[in-house]
Amino acid sequence: MRIVVDRDRCEGLGMCEAMASDFFELDDDEVLQVLDPEPGEEHRGHLHAATQACPVLALTLEG
Ligand code: SF4
Repeated sequence: MRIVVDRDRCEGLGMCEAMASDFFELDDDEVLQVLDPEPGEEHRGHLHAATQACPVLALTLEG
């Protein structure tokens, strides 16, 4: 599974970080950093919820 960020959509709102701070972090310039871009299958439920929380639908899970 891979976390894909649509950089054209992401507005640095931080909902994903609030939902899953082990995977998403906004840096000092409010640019989203994906800490673990290829997480294990056991994280799918949690990450699915986090991607759904993005208000501008910038996050998808592939694979
Ligand atoms: S919730 Fe969406 S807009 Fe906000 S930082 Fe995460 S990906 Fe970007």
